Amino acid sequence: MLAQHGEERTAEVGEALFRIGDETYPFIAIVEGEAAVTDAAGEEIVRHGASGFLGEMNLLSGQTVFLTAVVTEPMRYIAVDREVLRQLLFEDGSLSDLLLSAFVQRRELLQQREGVGIEIVGPRDSSETRRLLDYARHMRLPYSWTDPEESEEAAAQIGQLDPSEIPLLRLPGGAELRRPTNGELSRALGIGLELGEREEVDLLVVGGGPAGLGAAVYGASEGLDTLLIESTVLGGQAGASRRIENYLGFPAGISGTELASRAVTQARKFHARTATPYRAEALEPGSDRHLVRLDGGTEVRARAVLLATGAEYRRLPVAELDRYEGISVFYAAGPPEAQRCGAQRVGVVGGGNSAAQAAVWLARGGALVTLLHRRADLSETMSRYLIDELERYGVAVRDRSEIAALRGEEGQLDGVTLTDGEQLPLSFLFLFLGASPCTDWLGDVVARCPDGFILTGPEAGADGLLETSVPGVYAAGDVRAGSIKRCATAVGEGATVVRFVHERLAPAVASL
Ligand SMILES: Cc1cc2nc3c(=O)[nH]c(=O)nc-3n(C[C@H](O)[C@H](O)[C@H](O)COP(=O)(O)OP(=O)(O)OC[C@H]3O[C@@H](n4cnc5c(N)ncnc54)[C@H](O)[C@@H]3O)c2cc1C
Repeated sequence: MLAQHGEERTAEVGEALFRIGDETYPFIAIVEGEAAVTDAAGEEIVRHGASGFLGEMNLLSGQTVFLTAVVTEPMRYIAVDREVLRQLLFEDGSLSDLLLSAFVQRRELLQQREGVGIEIVGPRDSSETRRLLDYARHMRLPYSWTDPEESEEAAAQIGQLDPSEIPLLRLPGGAELRRPTNGELSRALGIGLELGEREEVDLLVVGGGPAGLGAAVYGASEGLDTLLIESTVLGGQAGASRRIENYLGFPAGISGTELASRAVTQARKFHARTATPYRAEALEPGSDRHLVRLDGGTEVRARAVLLATGAEYRRLPVAELDRYEGISVFYAAGPPEAQRCGAQRVGVVGGGNSAAQAAVWLARGGALVTLLHRRADLSETMSRYLIDELERYGVAVRDRSEIAALRGEEGQLDGVTLTDGEQLPLSFLFLFLGASPCTDWLGDVVARCPDGFILTGPEAGADGLLETSVPGVYAAGDVRAGSIKRCATAVGEGATVVRFVHERLAPAVASL
């Protein structure tokens, strides 16, 4: 099938198939011969031979190339253009399963490797360094970070710069950016769509988690001109989950990254536009179209708006937490964190299932994990099978424990003090303390409950089940008051909203 849709080519030993910094490259299926994949320092990462294939997540996301591939034995191969490959992935389920899971696993391995991807040079105690580190982590970009305090070379590199230009960021291929915004970094890497100053659509979806992606897939597939904007990374909280076990149709579970990649590919298949990173900053209701203002000045006018901004992790109420965040205190545990925490003493705070999943993941990576939670018994808040897993992987559980203070230097944690005065020598903390809704930007434009979640249906005085107090503005997923905080329900609500949008935009058609 690949041969039918691609182009057969040959290459001689020493020829480069693609190089670090290239804007794009084709998917390469090897018929004969062999190629070596190397990093920026020329170090070999892997070789692929006959029946193997070259390609990684950036083939689908459009990011620039992070690695170089050089022919080591004369090659005959099939090159499939990126857009053609996307189409094949839609049409062929088994090919899509094979390639997507390989791409996701390759990206996870790259994230654990030093010297691949973007380089961030910036001081540990700078909030701008932390912002970029956080963004790279959220974007699942392979990156390395050098603190000029710890490297003379890095100090010399940024010594000439004005403080307002630090951190310095080097892209694969060598280009440099000085204190880029998240948007500038994304565009420089070729990620994501750039919006015009004024956009007009049928349906604007704010938030790219399961609810927003569900709405984008159904909205676009049912003929609505749909734009989805996301302030960080498509996938939302679900994208941070190591393994989602309870999503229908995946009996062996699916990683959040993979679920998100599949959903994004599906949304694009139906021509939904997805734009990141764009943050919605204000909603101004109108009679025919509502106006949503985005950071950077873009204005989107939409006949219907879906608020699917989900919820954000709660922070620990201790002094100077922000000095440690992104360096030794985290809100999700992925491959880079597991790598960094191997053989270290790690605390996981929280009594819910996500805390358990992270604790098990880190313990399996070789960390010495203590799980701290407030209640007397974990079974009040955690599923039984996860309590058993904690025991199986040697996670120590401390009931009735709360952290009162953090201790450490320059963002690196050294220990914590509990409210009863006890000291624990922990080098890393992972916080899973529940979430607050991302609704501050809405002010009192739509009705919200005292906790800030958006009211819908009769509680909001609205006709439609998922409609807010403003006609034509809907809410779905975790951000909605009373919703079940799960992936499947978020997707279901997002999809359901599309039906209501159709009814609003074309009542005559919807009633047929
Ligand atoms: C670690 C972890 C593990 C989990 N595991 C499971 C599991 O195994 N099974 C399960 O069913 N559920 C699980 N959940 C819960 C599940 O992920 C959530 O219920 C689901 O993601 C909610 O989807 P959502 O689209 O409503 O919101 P979110 O996933 O929160 O997505 C909202 C999106 O909106 C964006 N956003 C916020 N404000 C703005 C703005 N102003 N402008 C633009 N964009 C904005 C955010 O960046 C975010 O990407 C887990 C959650 C976590 C954190």
